[in-house]
Order: sequence, then structure tokens, then C-alpha cells
Amino acid sequence: MIDKHQGGCLCGRLRFSTEGEPERASVCHCRTCQLRTGSAFSVSVYFRIVKVSVLSGALLSYTRESESGHRWDIRRCENCGTALFWTISGYDWDGLIGVAGGCFDPPAFWYSLTREVFTRSRAPFCTIEVPHHLETHPAHAPRHPDPPRLDGSGA
Ligand SMILES: [Zn+2]
Ligand SMILES: [Zn+2]
Repeated sequence: MIDKHQGGCLCGRLRFSTEGEPERASVCHCRTCQLRTGSAFSVSVYFRIVKVSVLSGALLSYTRESESGHRWDIRRCENCGTALFWTISGYDWDGLIGVAGGCFDPPAFWYSLTREVFTRSRAPFCTIEVPHHLETHPAHAPRHPDPPRLDGSGA
């Protein structure tokens, strides 16, 4: 039997479903994730794009290039602004879509986390229980420096 899960945004207009286990799931403390969520970290659950279906609602897209040259395409509910999905170019992200880990219907946290990344900008009050802790990310290779508010190296 295929494991299916549903979820959605705060207002409920944007609904989605996922099929099967994620390719990986992790916590990210990078400044991009802190700012795109407005929180201390993101919970990033990656699926093959074909395993994620939008059932209703409409998405707004915001694109930016990371300091390592990866193109982020962040998608939010056009009504309430919940950031549900993103894609990132390069590394092994092509063909994957990130799903915001807090947006699944209860029991929301049904998946297992494999690691936390960008611990260099982790909030001092965060203790995440995962098998692996990485100071940055295997794909982190800055080409052009981010402005100080986005640079997590001194946090
Ligand atoms: Zn919404
Ligand atoms: Zn991040």
C-alpha cells in the first residue's frame, strides 16, 4: 500500500498530497530558511516532484539565487502566504521539491529527520535530535558574499 499524506496552508485553500516516503527530511538553520519562514529553522521534507500533487488553491512564486549560485523558487499560498514548497537548482535537488514540514495534516510530523544543516547560524535555544549535524551543507560553496543580514557565518 502506498503511503499517502495530505496537508495545506493556514487558510486551507492550498491543499496538497504526497505519495510514499520522502527522499530525505532535515532541519535547516540557514539564513534563507530563517527569513523565508520567519522562524529559527525550517523543516525540509524532499520528495520527487512527481510524488507531490496540488489539489486546490493557487501559488505565488519568489525566486532568488543563493550565495552558492543555487536558484531557489519559493512558493506560497496566494491567499494567506504560507510558504509550502520550494525547488532549488543544482547539487542533487533537480527533480526534487521541498515541502514545508509543518504543513502536513496531523499527525504532521510522521517522517523521520536525517540531519540538521547550517548549525553555524542555529539559534542558541535550539536542540535538534538527529543523527547528523553539519556546520553548513555539502553544496555550500559561496561565489558572491551575501549582505551581512543574510550571512550566517558570524551568527
Ligand atoms: Zn492559504
Ligand atoms: Zn536553509
